Amino acid sequence: MNDRPDAVIIGAGVIGAAIALEMAREGYRTLNVDKLAAAGDGSTGSTCAIVRTHYSTRDGTALAYESFHHWKDWESYLGAPDERGYARLIQTGMVVIRSEGHDYRQHLRLHDELGIPYEEWDVATLRERMPFLDATAYYPARRPDDENFGRPSGDVVPGAIFVPSAGYINDPQLATHNLQRAAEAKGAEFLFHAQVTDVRRHGGRVRGITLADGREIDAPIAVNAAGPHSFIINRLAGVEGTMNVKTRALRHEVHYLPNPAGDRLPFVSDSDIGGYCRPEVGGTLVVGSQDPECDPREWIDDPDEFDRQVTPDQWRAQVYRLALRMPNLKIPNRPKGIADLYDVSDDWIPVYDRSDLGGYYLAVGTSGNQFKNAPMVGQLMAKLIAACEAGHDHDRDPVSVVGPYTGQRLDVGFFSRNREVIRDSSFSVLG
Ligand SMILES: Cc1cc2nc3c(=O)[nH]c(=O)nc-3n(C[C@H](O)[C@H](O)[C@H](O)COP(=O)(O)OP(=O)(O)OC[C@H]3O[C@@H](n4cnc5c(N)ncnc54)[C@H](O)[C@@H]3O)c2cc1C
Repeated sequence: MNDRPDAVIIGAGVIGAAIALEMAREGYRTLNVDKLAAAGDGSTGSTCAIVRTHYSTRDGTALAYESFHHWKDWESYLGAPDERGYARLIQTGMVVIRSEGHDYRQHLRLHDELGIPYEEWDVATLRERMPFLDATAYYPARRPDDENFGRPSGDVVPGAIFVPSAGYINDPQLATHNLQRAAEAKGAEFLFHAQVTDVRRHGGRVRGITLADGREIDAPIAVNAAGPHSFIINRLAGVEGTMNVKTRALRHEVHYLPNPAGDRLPFVSDSDIGGYCRPEVGGTLVVGSQDPECDPREWIDDPDEFDRQVTPDQWRAQVYRLALRMPNLKIPNRPKGIADLYDVSDDWIPVYDRSDLGGYYLAVGTSGNQFKNAPMVGQLMAKLIAACEAGHDHDRDPVSVVGPYTGQRLDVGFFSRNREVIRDSSFSVLG
């Protein structure tokens, strides 16, 4: 192992691995350190890996659409073999149910502006194309113990929007391994079972990291890609107090159920019932929550200590809500699912930025919605780091990057640590 790399990347989740690949392409000798056993074993391993474009902001939408093209062209984007094979984009398309809970007009404006194709469906078309979905309107989402749960709030939802450029990645850990192998092919290195316990500094710059076994690795650049542990690493680096936007860990559950619609089920985003679902392998589907107001938020102080079992209450809430939309859903008598952590920023929009500590960079606050964007995040971070290390003042004159597939300009300054909270955000997993 190179114990004097050009850059240490803390974390080997999908974000850290994507940054490694793009920094290696820029000529940096990088070293990812991760306390777990393999790339993608952290929160990336629990992701639903949904690829979609309906974000609340122009930059969020552009980042997602650009990244969609990377997944579509995955093998050639990687440009390197992986002995385990490649992850795949399963392009199911996405049905966004129109409801009071979803600012679809803003999303359509952004899709028009960025040239993202979509179809508008009235309720008759929704019923014809998705016969397994019931169109009754229920907004706002409620919990099953609410006396009004399941009581229609009106007649029917006003229809849906169908976006073909959406789906999910069939194996998110394999995708992360693909990034690792592609980065290694360019000279990057990965060190596992290595916990960072200190970020050493000297003269206003990062000097290196210290590991739990006492080893010191010196590097002039360090990148925080520690996922839900990002706030802990920022504290070690002494930068948390200097950031306007902070990050925290939030526990979230997703559940698995038999899929009554089989191959016909796309990714469905449904703010009317506060949830989403997508098909999963083995005849099942995954159901998740869009953080409706009625659901309690479980902030976690110690990301190494939280309950990984699904809770009957949250399972019932997510599954029963989906059953309102999907009357043929067969509800098993035993909950099945996973619980893991989001790394949530104050406005649910990530921070991709430099920091007030020279050489120390932030790829944090992914807020439950950035798996899909990892390939492009790698590029934003690599260009940002190269520019800042060459003396560019990114805070004053933000770096921008042109997406290689769509030609859209992405303003890295949008993801600044010093921004005011972005009021256009959904303040939810939708970003
Ligand atoms: C249940 C769930 C569902 C989701 N669904 C979607 C979805 O459908 N679509 C989507 O786009 N996104 C989704 N997300 C979000 C997405 O998965 C994350 O944004 C993304 O995986 C974060 O990647 P990461 O590399 O930042 O974090 P991680 O994968 O958590 O990687 C961080 C790594 O840092 C390591 N680390 C932490 N501290 C230290 C330390 N001190 N020393 C060494 N290593 C350390 C950890 O071990 C970990 O491997 C979901 C997330 C969850 C939890």
